[in-house]
Amino acid sequence: MSIISSHNMLKKAQTEHYAVPAFNIHNLETMQVVVETVAELQSPVILAGTPGTYSYAGTENIIAIADELSKKYNIPLAVHLDHHEQFDDIAYKISTGVRSVMIDGSHFPFEENIAIVKHVVNYAHRYDVSVEAELGRLGGVEDDLVVDAKDALYTNPNQAVEFIEKTGIDSLAIAIGTAHGLYKSEPKLDFERLSEIRSMVDIPLVLHGASGVPEKDVRECIRRGICKVNVATELKIAFSDALKQYLIEHPDANDPRHYMKPAKAAMKDIVKKIIATCGCAGKL
Ligand SMILES: [Zn+2]
Repeated sequence: MSIISSHNMLKKAQTEHYAVPAFNIHNLETMQVVVETVAELQSPVILAGTPGTYSYAGTENIIAIADELSKKYNIPLAVHLDHHEQFDDIAYKISTGVRSVMIDGSHFPFEENIAIVKHVVNYAHRYDVSVEAELGRLGGVEDDLVVDAKDALYTNPNQAVEFIEKTGIDSLAIAIGTAHGLYKSEPKLDFERLSEIRSMVDIPLVLHGASGVPEKDVRECIRRGICKVNVATELKIAFSDALKQYLIEHPDANDPRHYMKPAKAAMKDIVKKIIATCGCAGKL
């Protein structure tokens, strides 16, 4: 099995000052695009799916496709549970071969978040599964999770230290002004807060909600210590827009082997762009 945890991947990124992209995938085509592209560029990668994605595509199907793609291109792949919340669900998915987990207890009070995350860490580490958790709240929408942008709270650096000590997590997602989904206006990121957190903790830091953040700002985050960059919305838009355009121009099209091609090509351009921003080409 060449499906691996994200632990070493992210530690290497932290040491060598680049970021590993976590691309949200949804089906065969999106997985093909991501793996083919990272293989060409010899980039490490994390294939991420929300609970909604795994129930849509089937966890076993995603694992089977990832396993085959990993063999075909001879590269290790991390298959990641993005924003998972239920212990039993996580434990089941670990049993299918998943080795990288995000347990999101960020909407609970601090102590409760610690307890929920610690429970998952204790279980996951027995199976060599890496665990990411989130402290602070992001704005926007992730599946059916809605956070009022105004109420979104940024990560407190002192709490981050305590949170990591008490939970034993492998990586921490921080809130510094990014949001899930699309931005209504250009996000203003709290770079100083990121640097402060970076100076106080020693595990890889994760940036969620990177779609629509100006490239220079994502690069600045990586320069200041972000080791994992999550991208979902930007990929979906590129894929869907190209698909819609093709079907408008070819109203009689009915063969997915043809009409998926421009969608995959458009998504591939975004994957390449993000890899360039992350500085992770050749870092496999
Ligand atoms: Zn997220």
